[in-house]
Amino acid sequence: MKLITTEGVLHQAMREWRQDLHAHPETAFEEHRTSAKVVELLTSFGLEVTTGLAETGVVAALKGNVQSDRAIGLRADMDALNLQELNTFSHCSKHKGKMHGCGHDGHTAMLLGAAKHLSENRDFAGTVVFIFQPAEEGESGAKVMCDEGLFEQFPVDAVYGMHNWPGLEVGCFAIHSGPVMASMDVFDITITGQGCHGGMPHMGVDPVAVAGQLIGSLQHIVSRTLNPLESGVVSITQMHGGDAYNVVPDSVVLSGTCRTFSAEAQDLIESKMQQQVRSICEAFGAAGELDYRRIYPSAINDVKHAAICADVTQALVGERQVKHDLPPSMGAEDFAFMLQERPGAYIWIGNGTAEDGRGLHNPYYDFNDDILTLGANYWVTLVQSQLALP
Ligand SMILES: [Zn+2]
Ligand SMILES: [Zn+2]
Repeated sequence: MKLITTEGVLHQAMREWRQDLHAHPETAFEEHRTSAKVVELLTSFGLEVTTGLAETGVVAALKGNVQSDRAIGLRADMDALNLQELNTFSHCSKHKGKMHGCGHDGHTAMLLGAAKHLSENRDFAGTVVFIFQPAEEGESGAKVMCDEGLFEQFPVDAVYGMHNWPGLEVGCFAIHSGPVMASMDVFDITITGQGCHGGMPHMGVDPVAVAGQLIGSLQHIVSRTLNPLESGVVSITQMHGGDAYNVVPDSVVLSGTCRTFSAEAQDLIESKMQQQVRSICEAFGAAGELDYRRIYPSAINDVKHAAICADVTQALVGERQVKHDLPPSMGAEDFAFMLQERPGAYIWIGNGTAEDGRGLHNPYYDFNDDILTLGANYWVTLVQSQLALP
C-alpha cells in the first residue's frame, strides 16, 4: 500500500481541516460543529457513518478489499479546553475561553486523513473502525462511548490511540510497554470545626489549624507508605475557608488530585487518606469528610500491542527515531477506558522541540501541521500490518 506524501493534496487538506478545527474549538459533549464536519468529510470519502454515541461521537467502519473477521479500532479525540488562547495567528480560536490547547484538532485531522487515504486504498483484509471521541479533557468521553456500546456495535480485536507530544522531536515516536499515562482521581475534604471569635479560639474548634495538620500528614502517604519503587502523587491544589480577619471559620475545604500507575497504589492512597482525614480531624475535635472520586484509570499498554506499534513506527521512521526510554506521563488520558475493554496501545508522536518550550494546555500551544502526514501514515501502516492481506 502506498503512503500519503507531504507534497500531495491530502497533506494540504489535513492542514486546512486542522486549522479550521483550531479556529472553532468546542468542549466536552458540545463538539457539534466538529462532529458535523467529521461526518461530512467521512461521508464524502464514501464511508457509512454512525453518530450519537456519547452525544457528539462519530464512528465509521471501513472494509478492506479482502473479507476477514479481523477488525481494529483507531481513535482520535476531538474536544478542546476551557482556556483562553493567546495566539494571534489567522487560525487562532474564534470561541472566547475555548482553545485547542492539547492538539486534539491535529488528532482529528490525522485520523480523517488516514480514513480518506484508506478509503481510496482498500488493499487490506478486514475492517478498520474510525472512532472520533468527544470529551477527553476530564469528562470521560471514552467511557461514555464504551458504556453506550461502542465495542458491541463495532467489535474490534484491538484499539489504538495516539497523542502529539511537545518536547519530542518531529519525526520521532515514543512507545511504552505497560503504563503510559497515570490514573487521575480528585478529592474534596471538608473539615468542620466550630466557628468562633478570632481572639478567643478556645471557644470553638479551628478547622484552619486542623487543615494545616492534615496537609502535612497527607504528604506522608506517598513518601512513607507507598513502595518507593511505585509512583504516586497527592497534590492539594485548593484551600477554601474563612473570609474575615477576626473570625475562626466553621469549616475549611481542601481539594486536589492523586495520580498513580497501578490499582494497588490507587487503593492504598485512597484508604490512607480516608484514615488520616478521619483520625486527624477527630484528634482535634473536628469532623472530617473525604469525597474521593476516581476519574480516569491508568492507561496501560498491552505489551504485545506496544511491540506491534514499535514495529510499525520503526518501519516508518527507522529504529533510532522510536524512543522506548521516555518515562510515562503523570498526566491522565481517558483512552485508558478503551484499553480496559480491548487490548491495544497508545503512543506519542513528536510535536517538536520548540525553543519556547510551550507544552500541552499552554495558551500559546499549537499543533504542528508538519507532523500531520506522518501521523496519518502511522494509522495507514498500522492497518497494513494488522489487517495484512493473506
Ligand atoms: Zn489535554
Ligand atoms: Zn490531549
